[in-house]
Amino acid sequence: MAETGASPAAGTGRAAAEETVTAGTGEALVTETGGAPAAGTLHGLGVSPGRAAGRVCRMADPPRLPAPRPVADTARETALALRALEEVAAELSARAGRAPGSEAGAILEAQSFMAADPGLRETVEENVAAGMDAGHAVDAACGHHRRALLEAGGHFAERAADLDDIRNRAVAAVLGLPVPGVPDPGHPFVLVAGDLAPADTVNLDPATVLALVTEKGGPTSHTAILARSRGLPAVVACRGAPEIGDGTWVSVDGTAGEVVTGLAEEAAEEILRRAAAERRRLAASTGPGRTADGRAVELLLNIGSAADLGAGAQAEGVGLFRTEFLFLGRADAPGFEEQVAAYEAVLRASPGGKVVVRTLDAGTDKPLPFLDLPEEPNPALGVRGLRVGRVRQDVLDVQLDAIAEAARASGVQPWVMAPMVTTAGEAADFAARARARGVTRVGAMIEVPAAALRAGRLLRELDFLSIGTNDLSQYAFAADRQHGELADLLDPWQAGLLRLVAECGRAGRAAGKPVGVCGEAAADPLLATVLVGLGVTSLSMSAPSLAPVRERLARTSLAACETGARIALDADDPAAAREAVAGMTAAGAARR
Ligand code: PEP
Ligand code: MG
Repeated sequence: MAETGASPAAGTGRAAAEETVTAGTGEALVTETGGAPAAGTLHGLGVSPGRAAGRVCRMADPPRLPAPRPVADTARETALALRALEEVAAELSARAGRAPGSEAGAILEAQSFMAADPGLRETVEENVAAGMDAGHAVDAACGHHRRALLEAGGHFAERAADLDDIRNRAVAAVLGLPVPGVPDPGHPFVLVAGDLAPADTVNLDPATVLALVTEKGGPTSHTAILARSRGLPAVVACRGAPEIGDGTWVSVDGTAGEVVTGLAEEAAEEILRRAAAERRRLAASTGPGRTADGRAVELLLNIGSAADLGAGAQAEGVGLFRTEFLFLGRADAPGFEEQVAAYEAVLRASPGGKVVVRTLDAGTDKPLPFLDLPEEPNPALGVRGLRVGRVRQDVLDVQLDAIAEAARASGVQPWVMAPMVTTAGEAADFAARARARGVTRVGAMIEVPAAALRAGRLLRELDFLSIGTNDLSQYAFAADRQHGELADLLDPWQAGLLRLVAECGRAGRAAGKPVGVCGEAAADPLLATVLVGLGVTSLSMSAPSLAPVRERLARTSLAACETGARIALDADDPAAAREAVAGMTAAGAARR
């Protein structure tokens, strides 16, 4: 479990005189920091890998409400409050428009819907009718709906931060204060905040913002998702964050989840220099994925839309196209034509020939209101992914029709797979539906342990498998993937998870069919070598992870990957596995 709070820097006697630097590759470097004031190490969850250092800029505190004032004209007051909400909704929607078709745009559009929600407006009206002024009416209404989200738990609870942002923006609008948001100090900085709303994160400029540290947030919070897609190192759930002083120098390790405070300026600059040198070294490794002895391992990209393809020119194709981003935050399902256009755009613009399209993964952390799915006590164990077909087969069939039409129009044949496949019967049914529409490569995601254990049987129905380690961990370890406190169980180095991957790798080899990994595990360079040793033939990740994974594979032989896999399968815990595999590959490199 992630430790939180401040602790003395490593090497107590020489507090911060020496520091270990990890520049997103697992390489250990040593930096002399010398004479740093009051250094300490804060721990949180590392949710976006990489290393950066710089001066802290804190997000401004949310606008404070003045004392309540008596309301003389209820109609005027209601109009003032509702206008503020409308302005916020319009601003969020305009920002979404500036990031069309991207994950970020979909998130902002959903937040704009939240600000315009009739239920929220109604609560504001009731509050004014009960005697509150506009500012207090907005504040209390957002507080009311926030509590409801928190009580709903899971994905809904993580959206509470979005509502806080709406509250802050609307209260500022009512009071005539500037819109709260990311500071602009005129120099690069490490952004420290209580939490970040999508509207803040979307427009972050990676040239100015070096890294993110937040007190709140979980592994799948928007801060985490967007930081990863922008390649910004990020640590969330860092309880010591409020104590980090504005203008002080810190280093942030988004891989280890550590923030070292009280650095001297020269030490921070040295860390930045080393991280930049490391990035240059990694950028020099190009071309297709290969082990040191030439075994091909396809390196692919995870995307939410065609807009995410720009940064992935170095990928050999798309390993996971999450089509649900087209459906999120919508009052109605996107129509056939709209879907064809979205899929065709990806097929035409893909960096390599291969594109793996995943059919709609709805339910639990990706709720789609228009599906009208029944309320469930345990949504993660309920009607989600392919199971939506049990109640709304029409939605999945229209999607398959649209994918087939996009293939015809673009002349590019996608590989098509379904999420949350659990049994061979489900695999056979999906394959029949897809093949009836002319899809030539049909596969399944392996996210449920039962499917991993029957990988060989599933492959009799299918052409390929793609392992979703995020969900496979969740279901194998009975640990909610959004639960920050259970992060240790969700660690992809857990031998229990790797044994399930090994089963799939074995089945793939026996059938002579490809088995990829498209969960976050594929983005960890050292673990990537283990996955290849377990028989995985492709790795799919977001763009910033491609170079480190490619570079690590290129200096590890297939035999070393297989030895690493055996070590990891038998390790007592994830930390021991990492250490033993890193030691083994370092020793191998030293012998060469
Ligand atoms: C996974 O579960 O590992 C996966 C890639 O799918 P998602 O994260 O979209 O659920
Ligand atoms: Mg999944």
